[in-house]
Amino acid sequence: MPYLMSLDEGTTSCRTIIFDENGQSVATSQHEFQQHFPVPGWVEHDAEEIRDTQFRTMREALEQSGLQPSEIASIGITNQRETVVVWDRATGKPIHHAIVWQDRRTADAIAKYDSPGNQEMVSRATGLRLDPYFSATKIAWLLDHVDGARAAAEAGRLAFGTIDSWLLWHLTGGSVHATDISNACRTLLFNLKTGQWDDDLLSLFDIPRSMLPDIRPCSCQFGTTEAGILGTAIPIGGMIGDQQSALFGQACIETGMAKTTYGTGCFLLMNTGEEVVSSQHGLLSTVAWQVEGQPAVYALEGSIFMGGASIQWLRDGLGIIDSAPDVNTLASSVPDSGGVTLVPAFAGFGAPVWDPYARATIQGLTRGSTSAHIARATLEGIALQVVDLLQAMEQDSGLQLSQVRVDGGAAASDLLMQIQADLLNRVVRRPRVLETTALGASFMAGLSAGVYSDQQDLTRYWALDREFEPALPAADRQQQLRRWHKAVERSKNWIEEKPS
Ligand code: ADP
Repeated sequence: MPYLMSLDEGTTSCRTIIFDENGQSVATSQHEFQQHFPVPGWVEHDAEEIRDTQFRTMREALEQSGLQPSEIASIGITNQRETVVVWDRATGKPIHHAIVWQDRRTADAIAKYDSPGNQEMVSRATGLRLDPYFSATKIAWLLDHVDGARAAAEAGRLAFGTIDSWLLWHLTGGSVHATDISNACRTLLFNLKTGQWDDDLLSLFDIPRSMLPDIRPCSCQFGTTEAGILGTAIPIGGMIGDQQSALFGQACIETGMAKTTYGTGCFLLMNTGEEVVSSQHGLLSTVAWQVEGQPAVYALEGSIFMGGASIQWLRDGLGIIDSAPDVNTLASSVPDSGGVTLVPAFAGFGAPVWDPYARATIQGLTRGSTSAHIARATLEGIALQVVDLLQAMEQDSGLQLSQVRVDGGAAASDLLMQIQADLLNRVVRRPRVLETTALGASFMAGLSAGVYSDQQDLTRYWALDREFEPALPAADRQQQLRRWHKAVERSKNWIEEKPS
């Protein structure tokens, strides 16, 4: 039986899962890596730590599986998107910490580009918007703030990559500098119509083309691993950004199918088929995936910066829980949030509001408010953001979704999923395999290795774990939504200048 190794490089941890050809996991290894917050609003990772952690999990998963490396038919990579690494081609060393997708340091730089003409040009070409979230202004920041970086980049000595490219480069011993189309389309440098890097965008952000990786489909031959890493050379046959990978892993392969992932952030994606649907309601148009030899498939996406990470803040920032799952016990100890609303704009607002100057707020506190109310309000805050996304998505697509598939670490919370069904007034369906992000990348690798014959082949691996039916009376839901929207207004435009 052929096995597939999926490298799932998330925002907070690296995971390697080995799947058999039926999509059943046979071994998993996962380790967190360090988050760096040098000043408020900045988020960095050490790219070498990510690489070493990822390689460690590969070795551990292989050992745990008891398989020979030669039994791995192919490797798929999925990764946190938009995060920027710039490294020296000669040494393979990063010139600076990676700047993470949540990082807001380029909010003021964005304001500099923000004219109606540029907004229009950028959104027409990329399906995205001018926002610090995406890679372009982060690359420009590195070129402008690291000594000698711009000159070195112009001389062709530096390489840029999102984490997929960074891992691929090191997996192949520095011989392949490539990305895939689902990661490329999140940089603000990729043209959705041509499927290539765009010269007008490169000149707008002043980024030398020589730094950029080659763009490939998500399922194709990317290269082989250096034999030293796992004991033998293994083909790398899949590469796909984490959210698109979850959409694929959830088998949302028909137009109109959607999923929400509750990881560090929350991401609602809907398959729009071979058509790019432009949003009128603050959503993004993005490439969902491309299998070699076939047309690209697109998606509408709503991205929220703080999902499960808000729960981590309860643990690490407030210290009111010891571990993420404890939030469920604490929040269940009260019947409701007691009028407390937590707006999780810790890193500004993503879709559909888009305000890098917004900050999180806790509103409606009284003398009776307790940590349990705050915990419950945090879960509600995560779910309420998703309600706004779903509304925007239905308006853009003209489709009414009767159900949403869910996944990601925080989807393990029954309480959060029930709150979500109640506030969405939609059925929430959780699959048995919650590791759909890793599964999507292994499907991509399996398609290129011939383990699967076509995409349709994959739908039989989706199995239901639990369905959450909405049970909240309409009047209560509407009241909660009204209070939420009032609270969102009060969180907007909170900081007035760039954090120093
Ligand atoms: P990523 O891939 O973005 O690193 P994951 O999908 O691994 O994220 O999800 C991790 C998030 O899920 C964390 O932010 C954590 O707070 C949350 N989480 C994990 N387990 C639970 C749980 N049982 N209940 C609620 N939240 C959880």
